[in-house]
Amino acid sequence: MRNGVAANDLMAPIRVANPKILILEDNQSDADLLLRELKRSGLSFTSRVVQNRETYEDALENFSPDIILSDYSLPSFDAVTAFAIKQSKCPHVPFIIVSGTIVDENAVELVKNGVTDYALKDKLLTLSTKVNRALNDTQAGKEKAFTDEKIKMQAAALIIANKELVFQNKEKEIRAADLVILSGNLKIQKDELYTANNLLIKQEEKVKTINLELSQLNLELEKRVVNRTKALAESETRFRNMIETIPQIAWTNTVEGEFIYYNQRWHDYTGLDHNQTKFLGFNVLIHPGDLKNVSDQFRSVLKIGDGGEFQIRGKRADGLYRWHLVRLMPIKNDAGLVQLWVGTATDIHELKLLQQQKDDFISIASHELKTPITSLKASLQLLDRIKDNPASPLLPKLITQANKSLDKVNALIDDLLEASNANDGQLHINQKPFVISKMIDECCYYVRAEEIYTITTEGDMDVEVYADAVRIEQIMVNFINNAIKYAPKSKAIRINIEKINDTAKISVSDNGPGIPPEQLRYLFDRYYRVDSSESQHTGLGLGLYICAEIIKKHKGQIGVNSVLGKGSTFWFTLPVAAGV
Ligand code: ADP
Repeated sequence: MRNGVAANDLMAPIRVANPKILILEDNQSDADLLLRELKRSGLSFTSRVVQNRETYEDALENFSPDIILSDYSLPSFDAVTAFAIKQSKCPHVPFIIVSGTIVDENAVELVKNGVTDYALKDKLLTLSTKVNRALNDTQAGKEKAFTDEKIKMQAAALIIANKELVFQNKEKEIRAADLVILSGNLKIQKDELYTANNLLIKQEEKVKTINLELSQLNLELEKRVVNRTKALAESETRFRNMIETIPQIAWTNTVEGEFIYYNQRWHDYTGLDHNQTKFLGFNVLIHPGDLKNVSDQFRSVLKIGDGGEFQIRGKRADGLYRWHLVRLMPIKNDAGLVQLWVGTATDIHELKLLQQQKDDFISIASHELKTPITSLKASLQLLDRIKDNPASPLLPKLITQANKSLDKVNALIDDLLEASNANDGQLHINQKPFVISKMIDECCYYVRAEEIYTITTEGDMDVEVYADAVRIEQIMVNFINNAIKYAPKSKAIRINIEKINDTAKISVSDNGPGIPPEQLRYLFDRYYRVDSSESQHTGLGLGLYICAEIIKKHKGQIGVNSVLGKGSTFWFTLPVAAGV
């Protein structure tokens, strides 16, 4: 019963604390009446009274009422419009019409349209109850709506949770299915792993076997390498020993021509150590005149690869060049490829000089023999022309000339024979004691006869030597003849006899041009002749050689002292006769 006051409505405590009540009333005394009635009911509230539409709309905005009490009709406004405005702005706020004139049909119509309640001004006793109920209903509606909303939200949350659960279930199912597949795969993989593992175990065993075989092979190879290295080291030591003991200079060089090793003889001969040799190179040791030829030959030997030999003049540590025969031998591997070159240099200087001397000797000997023979032939031709005229004054002259030529040929042949005999050890001497000064005096007779030269003999004139007088005379003649031949401007020839302990030293000096010091040591060699443009005399280069051989037989010494431009002294020593 809407218009009646229900016991429980009166009794019901108001649920909205200190509600805000908006009163739309143009009559102030009616408004006061309303307020008084509400206060009297014990309701605690806040209120605002408005009289027109403008203040009503402002209060809706700014006062925010919990309930509206409206007069039914106002001069410029009415409750129906006010209700419509309230519905559009705050539809949940309860709206009670308080009127003195409203008829029940209108009131029913208004309640049907949404107005919360109505009260008559002359029956205001029920107003507070209606206000309470409207407020409580609204609050309950609000709470219900809140609860409903909450329930709706919870239901929605439940639905979502349910959906989530369903989804999660599906996920789980999918995962379970995946797990089944995975488990299947894992099983396959496990089987595969098992098979692979078995295979690996087998392979490991095979590897172990192979490793064992390999380590045995390795051991075998190591043994072989050790043996081979030892053999190589031994062979290298043998090679080095051999290279060090041979009388030749020796070295090794690579296929490209780089020198690797030199024996001690190399260092002794060149005076260069390994680093100096490397730094200076091979070429500084070769005679400039042989350089081009040597580099061509060296290259061609290396190119052909079968070895070869050539002759060069190599510089000795003292700066002298000596002839060497260089031999290059390849060391090849099993495939026939050259691995290394071994080079040797043999000193052939003496041989070379000897050859040179021999060549010179043949040409000189031919020339020397030809000169007296040509002269002899000329004398004989002239004699032949005058043979029918024995009174011709030319006859004795030609015979003397022919004899001279013959003597010269004889002397040359004697020299040759003597030299040949001396060389074969066939030179015999017949030693007897004799006074050397006497023998010298006799043999100088022929020179003194020419009266061009003065020969003086000084020293110990009584010395008796134990020697072959004929051979010693031969030496003296040779020395004096040489002094005449090779020192023609020096007219004085001095002979000195000196007794030194058990020997007698005889020397022949001249004031001639002298002999270059570097040639002195070769003077007594066979076929040796000093090259001199000044000398017009020819000879076989045998005289001094024969002299040296004769003195050797007497166990004496022979030598020469010479100063260029001042003269030469040739000397020899002989044993003095026993008991002197
Ligand atoms: P040869 O028969 O040619 O004269 P020798 O053996 O007697 O030969 O002499 C050798 C060389 O010694 C000669 O070619 C000459 O040049 C040199 N010689 C010898 N005696 C003298 C000297 N008194 N003064 C300068 N040179 C000399």
